[in-house]
Amino acid sequence: MRQTTLKRQISISGMGLHSGIPTTLTLLPSYNGKGIVFRRTDAGNIEIPASPRYVQSTNYATRLARNGVVVETVEHILAALYACGVDNAIIELTGPEVPSVDGSSEPFVTLIEEAGLAELPSPRTTLRIIKPLSILEDDKSIHIYPARGFHITYTIEFNHPLLAFQKHTAHITRSQFTTEIAPARTFGFLRDVEALRKIGLAKGGSLANAIVIAEDRVLNGDLRFENECVRHKILDLIGDFALAGKPIDGHVVVHKGGHHMHTALLQLLFSRKDAYEIVGPVRPDGVFHEVFTPASAALAT
Ligand SMILES: [Zn+2]
Repeated sequence: MRQTTLKRQISISGMGLHSGIPTTLTLLPSYNGKGIVFRRTDAGNIEIPASPRYVQSTNYATRLARNGVVVETVEHILAALYACGVDNAIIELTGPEVPSVDGSSEPFVTLIEEAGLAELPSPRTTLRIIKPLSILEDDKSIHIYPARGFHITYTIEFNHPLLAFQKHTAHITRSQFTTEIAPARTFGFLRDVEALRKIGLAKGGSLANAIVIAEDRVLNGDLRFENECVRHKILDLIGDFALAGKPIDGHVVVHKGGHHMHTALLQLLFSRKDAYEIVGPVRPDGVFHEVFTPASAALAT
């Protein structure tokens, strides 16, 4: 029940899904207890902590920004680090966007497994939901309820015959994430591609890094899961909730959500200090060592 970092540094290269810019991502160990921090080596080594405070935009991807420098599409690498139990790491980027690789979190899980995990002296704490919170917007909703462990129930609906409705529930452990969620790729509709490119999005998108759904078929052929799209939404939610900076005890229930709803709930949560508590490591008898009040806990928000 101690915090972790990576044993060694390791790199991967690829193209940003939206920018189309080739970028190398390097994961480095971090020993300072500052959580997950992005560093733009091509922009004066400016560091942007993975925190709700730095969310700048949630339009088709989650973008962080600090002092005019951005990191785009942070969710797939953050989901992998969260689910693999990496509390502290530096994510160096040679460009503005995390490489999409194959559009899922699987390449990042492999990278973390190759680097290995090292324990740090400081104890790991958990953010435990103690009161439900909800956000409703038109026909969309997101709720979080008290629970042991991190659970997500997600439903999606689109005006499309191949993706009219999908629902999936996942209990996020490292092994469940690795086998059931991490391989799920990002997806989009062929009918939207031209419009997205006109507004500067999906420039690096291709059948190599996204499921592309035409009117009557999936252009990629076989899917990795029958309901791969809703599993990818769960992956995105994990990546966005990783901005909390701690493992979460709670059950998130989402209907027709996206990065905007995910980060809005996280920001609501941090404004409601009566809705959560920070709990310390569990003793062998199952009793928590310590319970901090949010006001006294050093939350990176
Ligand atoms: Zn995604």
